[in-house]
Amino acid sequence: MTKIQNPPGPSFNNNLVLLALGTNRGDRLQNLRSALNCLPGRLLRMSHVIETNAQLPPAAPADWNLPYLNMLVSMKTDYAPAELLSALKLIEKQHGRDPEAPRWSPRVLDLDILLYGNKEVNSASLTIPHAELKNRDFLQFLMETMGYEIPGAIKMDVSGYAPLRHYALHPKFVGILNVTPDSFSDGGKFLQPDKAEQQAKKLQLDGASIIDIGAQSTRPGYDEIPPSEEIARLAPLLDRCSDIKNISIDTYFDDVVKYVLGKNNVKWINDQASVLGSQTLKLIADRDVKLVIMQRDMSTVWLRDRLKYLQNLGLEKRNIIVDPGIGFGKTKYQNLHLIKQLKMLRRHGCEVLLGASRKSFMTHHSAAPAADRDLESIAVACHARDAGVDYLRVHNVADHMRFFVTKHCIENA
Ligand code: ADP
Ligand code: MG
Repeated sequence: MTKIQNPPGPSFNNNLVLLALGTNRGDRLQNLRSALNCLPGRLLRMSHVIETNAQLPPAAPADWNLPYLNMLVSMKTDYAPAELLSALKLIEKQHGRDPEAPRWSPRVLDLDILLYGNKEVNSASLTIPHAELKNRDFLQFLMETMGYEIPGAIKMDVSGYAPLRHYALHPKFVGILNVTPDSFSDGGKFLQPDKAEQQAKKLQLDGASIIDIGAQSTRPGYDEIPPSEEIARLAPLLDRCSDIKNISIDTYFDDVVKYVLGKNNVKWINDQASVLGSQTLKLIADRDVKLVIMQRDMSTVWLRDRLKYLQNLGLEKRNIIVDPGIGFGKTKYQNLHLIKQLKMLRRHGCEVLLGASRKSFMTHHSAAPAADRDLESIAVACHARDAGVDYLRVHNVADHMRFFVTKHCIENA
């Protein structure tokens, strides 16, 4: 068997391993994030994530043909090869993979050892370098993106290989979907349930971790519609979106919250106004649904008090997400200042969400109309990611993703 050349570097030793991660079931991006957190070793470099068509034997059932997300990670580990394989199989199992499932069937997680230093292993349960390395174009493509040289004997020509999509794992995106006639940048575009459904699916495919659906525009000076009207807008869309994994509902009406908590893919309530009643908040706590809370002025006291109040009602900090409320009760300058100071928000011990996409504070420094402010939004997003913000709530997930994939690739080169 030919030896694989690892890239030279001071960190190289015999315990440097290269792993492949794959997933084609469930919340695929989240499966990868979660698996990376479990790996037994110190992560060194990560490829970006690519989407690939399933490679199946000819007789495979049609419903196995689900696209995969794949990535590679290099890691230093103290585990011997056989121990590492057992540890990886355990992680697969913990993520819900059925070890008895047929070989090519869809799996939440597949962890393979591609390389273990320069070692060669040929046992009944383990082949290193991985036996499929010579057959799988996407593995060779990913290795090349990480600077690995593949020996001539097994090298495939992947110069024409193109993944279906490219993703970065961080930051996580909340895709905005307004089913309203009057939202500030996309009002009226997604009022029809079929258009809204298409957009929700597009946002998910573009890499949104969750879709935030709002049936009421809360832009400055909006005309309020009653809860019954919000429910009438949401109901047909939620019926169509049962295969969207994660949905957030942007509402401040108790009746709307009670209605949407009946859907098991509704995972967040985005409460921009903090007027939900205590019974509703308790219901959210009981369902283990996350609550996004928004700071509507510049006061830090409010946020501390609000967190205390919510915790007393049974909401746990791990289920509360703090949003600084860009554009609400702030001057243009204060918005910029808040974005600059984002790191400070993390001291509350909750996850942080930033919703700045296309907002009008950008007229401080941009002449672009609202629907055309994605470039400005991405500049804000770049700063926010570096400040450790967990979620970015944006209109154009696809363009943000392109930006962060490139950034990831440079940072991991
Ligand atoms: P896939 O080939 O798609 O990864 P599985 O994950 O079902 O399929 O792998 C089947 C078996 O392959 C594993 O149970 C493991 O014992 C064996 N195997 C052999 N070599 C390796 C390796 N380098 N990395 C991971 N598994 C391996
Ligand atoms: Mg495997």
